[in-house]
Amino acid sequence: MELRNLIINGISPQGRKDIIKKYKMNNFSYYNREKITTDLKKTEFDLLIIGGGITGAGIALDAASRGMKVALIEKNDFASGTSSKSTKLIHGGLRYLKQFDFWLVKEVGTERAIVHKLAPHLVVPEKMILPLIDGGTYGSWLTSIGLKVYDILASVEGEDKRKMLDKEEALEKEPLLPETILNGAGYYAEYRTDDARLTIEVLKTALDYDAKMINYTEATEFIYEENRVVGANVKDTISGEEFAIKSKYVVNACGPWVDELRQINHSKIGKRLHLTKGVHLVVAHEKLPVKQSVYFDVPDGRMMFAIPRGKVTYFGTTDTNYQKDKNTVETNLVDATYLISAVNNMFPEINISLDDVQSSWAGLRPLIHEEGKSASELSRKDEIFVSETELISIAGGKLTGYRKMAERIVDLVGKKYERRFNKEFGEIKTDEIVLSGGAFKNSSEVKSYTDAIQNRIAEVDFTRIDAEYLVHNYGKQTDIILQKFDDIMHDNMQEKMIKAEVWFAINYEMATNPTDFFMRRTGRLFFNSESVHQFKNFVLSEFKTAFSWDIKTTENHQKELKHYIKMATTFE
Ligand code: FAD
Repeated sequence: MELRNLIINGISPQGRKDIIKKYKMNNFSYYNREKITTDLKKTEFDLLIIGGGITGAGIALDAASRGMKVALIEKNDFASGTSSKSTKLIHGGLRYLKQFDFWLVKEVGTERAIVHKLAPHLVVPEKMILPLIDGGTYGSWLTSIGLKVYDILASVEGEDKRKMLDKEEALEKEPLLPETILNGAGYYAEYRTDDARLTIEVLKTALDYDAKMINYTEATEFIYEENRVVGANVKDTISGEEFAIKSKYVVNACGPWVDELRQINHSKIGKRLHLTKGVHLVVAHEKLPVKQSVYFDVPDGRMMFAIPRGKVTYFGTTDTNYQKDKNTVETNLVDATYLISAVNNMFPEINISLDDVQSSWAGLRPLIHEEGKSASELSRKDEIFVSETELISIAGGKLTGYRKMAERIVDLVGKKYERRFNKEFGEIKTDEIVLSGGAFKNSSEVKSYTDAIQNRIAEVDFTRIDAEYLVHNYGKQTDIILQKFDDIMHDNMQEKMIKAEVWFAINYEMATNPTDFFMRRTGRLFFNSESVHQFKNFVLSEFKTAFSWDIKTTENHQKELKHYIKMATTFE
């Protein structure tokens, strides 16, 4: 029977087993770490990717699905760099029209629809309103033409096409807008996602093509033969073990750390990275009760987003030059007050204060430096650098364009490979590869599935918001989690659900500690911080039991989580 029918029409025990068999993802588990390490040591790969953000993940899936033997290593947790700190939009980048970056608008605009098709539960349509205000960046004429060009470049069709609203229509859509200075609005379609989950689902899909991938493993130096990079020496940062990974080609997809690896390769010459920091704050939805996403003017001439998500609204971002430690990027008081005053300025009925902030995140844009340009003027286009020793580095770009960035890298590797080793690989096919958990035809199927999940969990007192959380996070894999939920003997239903989620994160998604779980497997630290406070000790004890941690290890992970909670909630 079709998997889809099985799930929507109620699932027999055999059906559930079939689903679990189909999603044979438990190779992607901490428990399998030794086996993965053995494979990494003994195989000569075609492509070794350094960096487990969205760029590295996209390359891994593309290369593996074209038949390359692929390895990927990540020094921290997957998506722990910029790929869990973005605005979490799969979008066409309207602002790039202002920079006349038509090519970028066309590429990311077209990509939105493809990525939505590959994971409709995770890349969710989101209407955006762009208020036109006195003295704002976009006048009515420019917005109308701009959004029209945007629609054409991105091949936007049907209901998603832009509409221009007059003042009354704009206020009806978003009553919080500033009536006295409002002249109307542009109304158009974008997509919202969870960047870390997207990265993890892309990685899990690469697993289906036998890519070998591991987190907490850092590249420390390169291995050379005949003046070519043919692998890397790496260190497992959990066990401390050092070993070598051999590969015909090596890609440096280290985002903000790209130049560090180029430095190790003695190839940091010519173009270099220019890092800018972007911060987002999260408040309860009732504190900023926008009805849909708003893309609005800030008095200093920049633009910001306010995006509703479940019980919260988040807003951002800043764009400031950054030269400090890349491993601990913090939201400071200046960032927080800038964002709060921008929101209070745009929405006159709102009066948010620092005390209202539930959570925050700060990330680094790995942009390419251009002499004389300010942070927000720098292009978001990706660039590839190939060193004399054939280390291939990629930087810049967008979450949205990950598939096309991967295509450019794998095409390049494929050509080089053919010339040197006389072997060809297939054409790109990632536009047809559904991401794990994403087996839905379209958004209305996601909705029916969410209805079915809601019915199922309503019996044990969960709500629509809980069903949406599960489906947006895990897609059809929600069934695996609910199967586990049914099997667990535990009285407290909330804890029982968390238990099932932790079990899934450990067994299917290579989570190794509570911080991985709360930040990158579930996004709870950002979007449901209350649940982190409520369940942090419970989750810690689940991990302790799962991995038989001693007291010291348990304390270290407790401290680590405490550190990240503090980073997200205090501003110095
Ligand atoms: P990263 O995610 O940083 O991944 C690089 C990885 O390499 C890291 O995980 C790091 O730990 C690892 N690494 C580093 N050194 C080593 C080593 N020696 N060995 C092993 N691993 C190593 N794009 C959009 O499309 N939509 C948006 O809404 C959007 N909003 C944004 C908002 C902000 C504030 C920012 C900062 C960016 C935003 N972007 C957005 C851009 C997008 O987030 C980035 O382009 C993308 O996430 C970069 O991914 P990456 O994989 O290149 O880098």
